[in-house]
Amino acid sequence: MATADRIGIMLAGALATFKLSTERDRAPLAVSESDTRFRQIADSISGVFWLVELDPRRLLYASPNAEEVWDSPLADTYADFGKIYRNIHPEDREMIQQGSSDADKTGYLDVEYRIIKRDGSVRWIHSRGFPVNDTDGNLFRMSGFAEDITDRKTELERIAEAGRLLSVGELASGVAHEINNPLAAISLYSESLMSQGLPNPVINDLKVISDQGKRAATIVRNLLQFAKKSSPEIAAVDAREFIERCLALKNHDFRVNNISASTNVLLDHPEIAIDEQLMTQVLLNILSNAEHACVGAHGRGHISISVQETGGSTRINISDDGPGISAENLGKVFDPFFTTKEAGCGTGLGLSVSYGIIAQLGGSLWAESDGVSGSPFQIEVPSTMGERLAEPPSDSGAAGRPDEPAISPLRLLVVDDEPDLRNIIVRLLERRNHKVDAAGDGDEAWDRLQDQSYDCIMLDLRMAGTGGQELFQRLNAADPVMAGKIIFLTGDMANSSTRSFLDPLANLVLQKPISIGDLEQATAVVTGNGQK
Ligand code: ADP
Repeated sequence: MATADRIGIMLAGALATFKLSTERDRAPLAVSESDTRFRQIADSISGVFWLVELDPRRLLYASPNAEEVWDSPLADTYADFGKIYRNIHPEDREMIQQGSSDADKTGYLDVEYRIIKRDGSVRWIHSRGFPVNDTDGNLFRMSGFAEDITDRKTELERIAEAGRLLSVGELASGVAHEINNPLAAISLYSESLMSQGLPNPVINDLKVISDQGKRAATIVRNLLQFAKKSSPEIAAVDAREFIERCLALKNHDFRVNNISASTNVLLDHPEIAIDEQLMTQVLLNILSNAEHACVGAHGRGHISISVQETGGSTRINISDDGPGISAENLGKVFDPFFTTKEAGCGTGLGLSVSYGIIAQLGGSLWAESDGVSGSPFQIEVPSTMGERLAEPPSDSGAAGRPDEPAISPLRLLVVDDEPDLRNIIVRLLERRNHKVDAAGDGDEAWDRLQDQSYDCIMLDLRMAGTGGQELFQRLNAADPVMAGKIIFLTGDMANSSTRSFLDPLANLVLQKPISIGDLEQATAVVTGNGQK
């Protein structure tokens, strides 16, 4: 049962025994046991009980916490009940007026609205009212309960937002996976053509294709990071020094754009548990957005960063004096590709990637807006390492840099169900003197493996028909040495089942879209000229 319902029932019982004549002036009377019980409830509860006369409308009773919840002196509210409407958020006034006039007829009220407190903060209030009838059964009063639901509402919104972004992340990683194969083909074909002694204008055009392919590959990588691809390397970092380092990186931009920044770090425990590189990316993105918003609005600006502890976490608040984010856009800013910046200035990926990073660090990132002033971004990260161990670094796609390029020819099997991609990989490897066979799925590869042994099998993980995982398992049972020679090709590191399959294995992983360099490094590792 909702708090307001429970309290409504308690209230109805308590009010039945409470002498209303005592309420306005609170004149000392002999206090019965039931009065005492009622006062104990009213004085200790964190919401407000209220009782209102409907015609003329006036407050008959409000429990002591009313001053805090309504942010209005109780004496004023008793004198003029209309005064509690004074601090209602302008956007909610019409809704409240409608709710009150309906309540005059029915006695029922159920409204959530914002008030702007005298200190400028905005709080959400939930108020429920119930009819009180006179002895003839006519509605003449309303009893009710009002409470500040800001914290609960914020938490619920954050949970809903996290769930929504999780599904957007899954979609993004699915799209990224589908784009990976064509991108790998674009990049490998264009790189391959560039090395074939073609006339310069053709080479220049090919370079454009290759560069655009790389640009698209960066977007794909960002999408995968949003979908929690990489494994962060978490270490304890001094929060104050970290923020100073980030501000130092923005120093030049801030100076030329007339942006001042102030920090206020209030920490007993100075350390936060973060991956500094990833967290720097997040903070720089938020600072750059704030800078852009302020400069766009008034050609200058101020950014404040405050840091404080909240339980086991550290909260970093970054606010600016720009125009803020409209209520309409607030729910969209973490969506991939959402941007209000002019074409060419924003990709709309900064905050979605940042969101993914902070989730990976075990924290949360959200934006607030009161519809009145600028929009603070809040980052919460764990204060201490606790039980956390730094996760192993991710398989970043290619193997480590080889000292020398591969020289010994290898016998290779390339297994991929995308014919264009398979063909260019085969061609590029053959051009490096390797002897290469190809297969379009796990079954075809299995047949080849019955008559031929290979130095290395380049195996796509996700294929139509028998996939890479199934072939690996089959081969591992029959010939574990050969299974150890598999190099996996995947564009799907965001997928948790892909990660849980690959993580325990010692096999190399090439992350799509792959480049010629990746293929060279991988074959160098197989010939013993490169490091894993
Ligand atoms: P991009 O910077 O490429 O637009 P982001 O994901 O970083 O992508 O930001 C998305 C959008 O969020 C911005 O285009 C802007 O509308 C909004 N935004 C982010 N930070 C602020 C801010 N400090 N003030 C106003 N709007 C902001």
